[in-house]
Amino acid sequence: MNPYLDADLVALGEHARRFASERIAPGFQQRDQTRVLDRTLMREMGAMGFIAPELPEAFGGQGLGCLAAGVIHEEVARADLSLSYINLLASLNGQILSQHASPEIAQPWLQRLTRGEALLAIALTEPRGGSDAANLRLRVERIGDAYVINGEKTSISAADQADAAVVFGRTGTVDAGAHGVTALFVPMDLPGITRSRFDCHGQRAIGRGSLFFENVRVPLNHRLGDENKGFVQVMQGFDYSRALIGLQVLAVARVALDETWDYVAQREAFGKPLSAFQGVSHPLADLDTQVVAARLLCLQALWLKDQGAPHSAEAAMCKWWAPKLAYDVVHQCLLMHGHGGYDRGPMEQRLRDVLGFQIGDGTAQIMKTIIARHRAGRHAVPA
Ligand SMILES: Cc1cc2nc3c(=O)[nH]c(=O)nc-3n(C[C@H](O)[C@H](O)[C@H](O)COP(=O)(O)OP(=O)(O)OC[C@H]3O[C@@H](n4cnc5c(N)ncnc54)[C@H](O)[C@@H]3O)c2cc1C
Repeated sequence: MNPYLDADLVALGEHARRFASERIAPGFQQRDQTRVLDRTLMREMGAMGFIAPELPEAFGGQGLGCLAAGVIHEEVARADLSLSYINLLASLNGQILSQHASPEIAQPWLQRLTRGEALLAIALTEPRGGSDAANLRLRVERIGDAYVINGEKTSISAADQADAAVVFGRTGTVDAGAHGVTALFVPMDLPGITRSRFDCHGQRAIGRGSLFFENVRVPLNHRLGDENKGFVQVMQGFDYSRALIGLQVLAVARVALDETWDYVAQREAFGKPLSAFQGVSHPLADLDTQVVAARLLCLQALWLKDQGAPHSAEAAMCKWWAPKLAYDVVHQCLLMHGHGGYDRGPMEQRLRDVLGFQIGDGTAQIMKTIIARHRAGRHAVPA
């Protein structure tokens, strides 16, 4: 227990860990090879109430709060980070749809989402760049009773597996910057959409790829939020995913540390357990300390969100610190396993999996700029 997790949340985490150990962990390495998210497993997760439990009951959720989503997310990620994208994408897109979609979209799609019957992607990045997100150029024109989309989104998680995506496009002028962007909900089976899949270093079960739009017509009621306000209104959701990503990668760091503590306590060199050497145990103790601290920061960000309090700076801290720390932890754990750590196996896969989050959802540089803006003021930290 800790100040953020009461007995109910701890019990929920234990419940999720039992399910994840039995049903998700066994296929961890196989999914890395097949590169397919298991839809049966996704539906099972939905049936267990593990997908977006924070959504209101009217949308298929349980109104449990964001900390509850966080503890489940951790346990799924501990078993398989790539599969835990199901939780991440559901919580991020679920929040966006529940707050900004018309009832005709929110009702059916959120029910499908929480039941584990639909996977939703988020499409912001374009070939010309992702960090300067407000400068996006995907063309969206309002013609009659539809928005017509032309262009490309790239590096989109689950691009070729998603059933629908939240897509950000330009309805205003380029000079309007963030104030000329509109968000649309786009089912992936609409005519004019084609998709590709990249050969990713890690996170291979969820994968990434491009979405190509050629005169794709989206009904007006698929708009999320107001026209030209997509960036300002809908982007608020990213504070949530940043805190969740922190927990997601730290869960991988935690399981890597747990396994490595066991390993160094039983393997011997020079007639002693490896852990008897401070060159082995102190780096692990150092990293373990930081993982405990970083996890508390992520839980605090979710707690602030549940309180309705500002948490953008804290979320950005989670997003730059945790992925870097998790990478350092898994790297160290891999080395502590000697030559065995270098074989294709869980530790090597974890290293590939966590690395992606030093880029995805915004790099450390962009996160530090967000923190600086909150501390020094936006005027003092121009883009
Ligand atoms: C695993 C993974 C999953 C992803 N999933 C998605 C997804 O689902 N949806 C989606 O829309 N996108 C997704 N992305 C894309 C991701 O959000 C972008 O890659 C990211 O925002 C960076 O954009 P970029 O790659 O174009 O790099 P660039 O913007 O070209 O930046 C390149 C480098 O320059 C640095 N840089 C840029 N500007 C500055 C600055 N002002 N100050 C200091 N440094 C700067 C960056 O930090 C980076 O190191 C994913 C990427 C990865 C790797």
